Amino acid sequence: RDEELAAIAAAPNANSGAPTIFDKIISKEIPSSIVYEDESVLAFRDISPQAPVHVLVIPKLRDGLTQLGKAEKRHEEILGQLLHAAKIVAEKEGISDGFRVVINSGASACQSVYHLHLHVLGGRQMKWPPG
Ligand code: 5GP
Repeated sequence: RDEELAAIAAAPNANSGAPTIFDKIISKEIPSSIVYEDESVLAFRDISPQAPVHVLVIPKLRDGLTQLGKAEKRHEEILGQLLHAAKIVAEKEGISDGFRVVINSGASACQSVYHLHLHVLGGRQMKWPPG
């Protein structure tokens, strides 16, 4: 129920193209706990962790990539870089032997921030199926 309400609340801003909180994290206007960074991606700890390790991996340049469901051919390179960065994060966090990567795309998947991001989760036994 709470998740449904959160998704509904987020919906009006979905894909408006407006800056999100992640732009301020990229510019370091808002502090974050950075785990990994290169010229294309930034990885930082989620403010509301759902597992002992919960890191978000985002492209520094959003380039219209508000959600995975809006990805286009030109985004192929950054999509690959994000996945590779998720693997580097898992190594740095010591969870290479078992971790989960999640992308919520759209309100019905409970996406709340419309700047594409991968969740890297681990450090505990994960359950399946996810909620
Ligand atoms: P989504 O629900 O869109 O898939 O995931 C957005 C994530 O961003 C959530 O897990 C939420 O906790 C996280 N988040 C939202 N605002 C901030 C913030 O200001 N700092 C950090 N580190 N994480 C945030």
